[in-house]
Amino acid sequence: MATVDTFARPLRNLRISVTDRCNLRCSYCMPEENYVWLPRRDILDFEEIALLVDCFTEVGVDKVRITGGEPLLRQHLDRLVAMLAAKPAIRDLALTTNGILLTEQASRLAAAGLHRLTVSLDTLRADRFREITRRDALPSVLEGIAAADAAGFRPLKIDTVVMRGVNDDEIFDLIEFGKRYGAEVRFIEYMDVGGATRWSRERVVARDELIDVLRRRYGGVEPASKDPSAPADRFALPDGTAFGIIASTTQPFCSACDRARLTADGMWYLCLYARLGTDLRALLRGGAGREQIAERLRAIWGGRDDRGAERRLAEREREALLSPDQLRSDPHLEMHTRGG
Ligand code: SAM
Ligand code: SF4
Ligand code: SF4
Repeated sequence: MATVDTFARPLRNLRISVTDRCNLRCSYCMPEENYVWLPRRDILDFEEIALLVDCFTEVGVDKVRITGGEPLLRQHLDRLVAMLAAKPAIRDLALTTNGILLTEQASRLAAAGLHRLTVSLDTLRADRFREITRRDALPSVLEGIAAADAAGFRPLKIDTVVMRGVNDDEIFDLIEFGKRYGAEVRFIEYMDVGGATRWSRERVVARDELIDVLRRRYGGVEPASKDPSAPADRFALPDGTAFGIIASTTQPFCSACDRARLTADGMWYLCLYARLGTDLRALLRGGAGREQIAERLRAIWGGRDDRGAERRLAEREREALLSPDQLRSDPHLEMHTRGG
């Protein structure tokens, strides 16, 4: 039987961060100079992750997304993908990456059984890419996208965080770029989570504004089919091109949120905004078995009342959620640790 929380939301979706390290420094995610990293000895090995995944599938999870930090920095990631792909209870296995290392890994990930791939890409301009990410890596990302397409990941998804005055003039270019690869572009509203220490309300380009801009340019934007628990609202342009908008800031979808997050060191969070999590690594390394852990997951999810983004929306005075000092005091609060 499905495990449900206090708002009758089932636990179905698990995002697993496999590393807190990253080869980019995106301004909306990791804007600072120095970071506190998770200790290496705490990072779960693949067998530990697979065992925890079995506990999660036992309580209803059937969708898993591998993320990070940058997940492709984790050595031999295709081995973990193969271990998870072999589990019949997982009907959807996806991965989110910045794409830099896809050229060398896309075909291996496909062969290991990865179902779906999302590449994050905020700009098509090399100088802007450098400004946003503080690395000169746009050509590798574009090559990576071509490699993912060649490896058969279709439709590929491209996730773009839209920030006013930064990349909001590239919406059409990104849609056209997506068309070239049959990729579905999803525009994400800038969120005030984790390391977004420079977030401001003014920088957010809201879903309604995006739709207006696209309607004016393309002559029509119609709603398209969507999975009710998926964060993206899907739309179609008159020529049939589909795109998505993830309105996590202005129209949050907490009421249907079925997702939880596991960090690379085995902390379990019930919400992107949650301050506290559950230490599953301690349970696991303390000798708890599969049934015992599953029981704990059921009990904790049963008490879940998180609606982080909705609660933030109700706040009148709203600035960045966390300061660099708060983030340094607990790296688990970082988006690159929690997995986005
Ligand atoms: N490194 C990988 C990547 O960038 O795809 C995976 C991890 S990253 C934390 C996952 C997603 O979170 C990315 O698509 C990124 O754009 C998104 N993200 C990070 N900070 C964000 C913010 N402040 N607002 C909206 N999305 C954010
Ligand atoms: Fe950018 Fe993803 Fe790295 Fe964050 S984790 S800095 S979003 S590439
Ligand atoms: Fe789910 Fe929390 Fe995000 Fe709301 S803010 S959609 S409850 S993770």
